[in-house]
Amino acid sequence: MLVFTSVLVLGIFFAVFIITDTRSFKQRKVDDMISLAQVVGTNSISTLQFDDDDEARKILAELHNVAPAIIHAVILDTAGRFFASYTKPGADTLHVPPEFNESRSLFVDERLFVTHDIVDKGQVLGKVLLEVELSDLQQIKRSQFQLAFILLVAALGFAFLIAIAIQQYFSRRLVYLVNTMKEVSRTGEYNKPIADDGKDEISILINVFNDLMKQVKETQEKKDEFIGIASHELKTPLTSIKGYMELLNLMEDKESNKQFVQKAMENVRKLERLIRDLLDVSKIQSGQLELNMGHFNMDSLLDETIASFQMIANTHQIIREGDCINEVISADGQRIEQVLINLLSNAIKYSPGETQVIVHTQKTERELVIKVRDFGIGIPADEQENIFERFYRTKGTSAHFSGFGLGLYIARDIITRHNGRIWVEAQERGTAFYFSLPVKKQELQATG
Ligand code: ADP
Repeated sequence: MLVFTSVLVLGIFFAVFIITDTRSFKQRKVDDMISLAQVVGTNSISTLQFDDDDEARKILAELHNVAPAIIHAVILDTAGRFFASYTKPGADTLHVPPEFNESRSLFVDERLFVTHDIVDKGQVLGKVLLEVELSDLQQIKRSQFQLAFILLVAALGFAFLIAIAIQQYFSRRLVYLVNTMKEVSRTGEYNKPIADDGKDEISILINVFNDLMKQVKETQEKKDEFIGIASHELKTPLTSIKGYMELLNLMEDKESNKQFVQKAMENVRKLERLIRDLLDVSKIQSGQLELNMGHFNMDSLLDETIASFQMIANTHQIIREGDCINEVISADGQRIEQVLINLLSNAIKYSPGETQVIVHTQKTERELVIKVRDFGIGIPADEQENIFERFYRTKGTSAHFSGFGLGLYIARDIITRHNGRIWVEAQERGTAFYFSLPVKKQELQATG
């Protein structure tokens, strides 16, 4: 922008300069030639009075030395006839443009025509007409254009260098701001204000951004606090409701009534799971999710979890494949089971109409990798990196499947606390979720 403006301003400046200079050059030329015509006219008075055209020609021939740019010089009598004329050697014949009759001077195709009346004691005896070539004007114009071009290029280069320096200063800060914004939106860490001690518009932008981050952080803290308190307060009455329901279920003999109680209990269990997830989220947020580390056999945990889950999942068959992991690992068994159950229930929930879910296990030297694969609706590539975010649900699922977008967020936290990894890979049909647990490290931690 700066370069463009500078070039534009300079261009306009040069154009105005060249136009003005050319005009004043032309005006000077006209004045000079009229003065010359005046002198020629005065000198020619007697030649006209005595009809001495030889002398008149001599006067005109002198012009060759005085003003070599004159191509034609003519003395006309009052009737407009040629009395004497001069033509520069090599020049073509004189063509007076018709429009010249009215004016004292006229520019036509780089030529100047001037005329001046020859007057003696108030009586017009004739007139002098000069035709002048303006080759020096061409020369001046050419050198002016050259100079303008050189100055323009130099100014362009200079403005460009300054622009780069200024742009680097601004864009460095803008790029930093943009990167921080991206980072904040990716990580959700709103507690890192950007430091900037400038006093320009970018600083104002940075300050506004810092204020916004502060506000978002405060709102988030309030929301987290609310979720924590609300889920805690809901937990106690729900436990009590669940207890009474179970009692009612035992006491009720009538099969039709029992069905209602069981339906109610199913919904209570759903609520229980939601409250548990909300409590977990609020613990993760406040850094209070603790792991109860213990030792257990991973194979048994997998088999038991799959078996108990299979009892409630009657639409799909859960198949176990892969290596037998005969490994006692150090981890929080309940939390690992929670991750597995979340992946299994997602696999079933998001593959309606399908009949299989595969749990594949692989043991490498450093880690155990567990894969839960379904043949369901899949996850669009552009949404895969978001699904581990809190409350994130893919566009295709939110309208058709129940859920809160908390399970994977909690699962990721649990697995990363175990120094493991959790990720998703799109399949030709369906989705595969993986999580890994380090073998050696866990063993070391357990013994340490
Ligand atoms: P919820 O299932 O309660 O919405 P999750 O955190 O478990 O929450 O999952 C987050 C989102 O990831 C889901 O809403 C869904 O859009 C997507 N998702 C998870 N697992 C699968 C899967 N197996 N197939 C397709 N989409 C899935």
